[in-house]
Amino acid sequence: MLACLDFAADMLPAEKPRYLMGVGKPDDIVEAVVRGVDMFDCVLPTRSGRTGQAFTADGPLNMRNARFAEDKDPIEPDCPCPACTTFERAYVHHLVKSGEILGAMLMTQHNLWFYQRVMQALRDAIAERRLQAFAREFLQRYRPAN
Ligand SMILES: [Zn+2]
Repeated sequence: MLACLDFAADMLPAEKPRYLMGVGKPDDIVEAVVRGVDMFDCVLPTRSGRTGQAFTADGPLNMRNARFAEDKDPIEPDCPCPACTTFERAYVHHLVKSGEILGAMLMTQHNLWFYQRVMQALRDAIAERRLQAFAREFLQRYRPAN
């Protein structure tokens, strides 16, 4: 995908908005914005929320994992969303493992807030002419193995 974006970027009119359908994971979105993409749509934040995957600045978390069974932290400690400011990971883990619809709702709510925060941070970085630095820091934290 990134190779295609690198290839296509110079052929697209600079004054037109660029839409990348069905993308995607937070790191893919950041990589695509760096390559000039303006718009995205994707089911990932909601679908992943329904299956117990939470997106965080430190990468995705599987809230079904037993390590969260007694975790008193919120899904993402610095997240201002209602799910994170109200509930502990242990409770969300219990809800997700039990198949309670509230678990899917809280996870979806958190993921949508996370995506909105990433997109706002990207807009701010572009406006402040520090997109490359933002992307480098975001990607290093989101997927430190790469
Ligand atoms: Zn949250």
